[in-house]
Amino acid sequence: MAAMHPQHNRPMALSIAGSDPSGGAGIQADIKTFTVIGVYSGAAITALTSQNTLGVSSYLPLPAAFVKKQIQDVLDDLNVTHIKIGMVGNREIARAIGEVLTGFTGEVIYDPVIKSSGGVSLFTAGSTAITEHIISQATVLTPNIAELEIISGLQCGNEAGALAAAQGIFALSPRLKAVCVKGGHMNILGKTVTDYLVQKTPPEKGTGAAGFHIARIEHPRISSRNTHGTGCTFASALTAYHMRTGDLNQAFRLTCAFMDTLLSRSTAYVIGHGTGPLPHHEFIRQKDETDQDLS
Ligand code: PLP
Repeated sequence: MAAMHPQHNRPMALSIAGSDPSGGAGIQADIKTFTVIGVYSGAAITALTSQNTLGVSSYLPLPAAFVKKQIQDVLDDLNVTHIKIGMVGNREIARAIGEVLTGFTGEVIYDPVIKSSGGVSLFTAGSTAITEHIISQATVLTPNIAELEIISGLQCGNEAGALAAAQGIFALSPRLKAVCVKGGHMNILGKTVTDYLVQKTPPEKGTGAAGFHIARIEHPRISSRNTHGTGCTFASALTAYHMRTGDLNQAFRLTCAFMDTLLSRSTAYVIGHGTGPLPHHEFIRQKDETDQDLS
């Protein structure tokens, strides 16, 4: 048998999310993130949004059967090891995604997008539909504090509350290995932000009770007007770094550093008139001769 080419059939990602025509969030943010981190990704679209940096004006969910077909066609052909899910749109699409993922044995990283930062609802059904169809298939969740409160039904105003809520979420799905809580909306007047990676550890001998391992990363709070798509970018980066390292703790550390770099560089940008996107392209910009010829 001929030797397999080393580049053949490398692990690939599939993003399942909504489209943002202004390029800051959703599918567009996901593909940019995978690309700059060096991972190939496909993209199955759940809904078309119409928006710019000033907000989401409307959205058009695609027929659920068509969303399912996009995912199935990609899974039938590409070597997808990791699926990242963002905006789902409605209950029918959630159900369709849940059905097509039932036979998928790789990692499923779900960023539970429920509302846009401007407050527009991006999922029209209640959180039980999310739990039943998507969280039940997920291996990793990446909620912010507001999303954690909706999913858990608990108040998460401080670290103890957020960690208790994150630990409670494991009861929703036996597949879940980790909940990565983004702490940016906690302690908002503080000079630092803490993100958490909560992982379930194997049941203890004797008691049979599962434990939890909690990793914390504290970083300086970077003030930037350009935060549109940070949730999508964070979850895609975690997915991409997990593909590259095979280790969730390392992926968490690299993702936090990646976000710090992008947020710091974003302060030099004015893109649009509202909450601008992250400058993903800055992450790979080469200072070569060609670059100097361009402004
Ligand atoms: N996905 C889509 C298609 C969106 O339009 C939005 C926000 O408007 C999001 C995801 C969530 O964006 P963020 O990463 O800022 O939470």
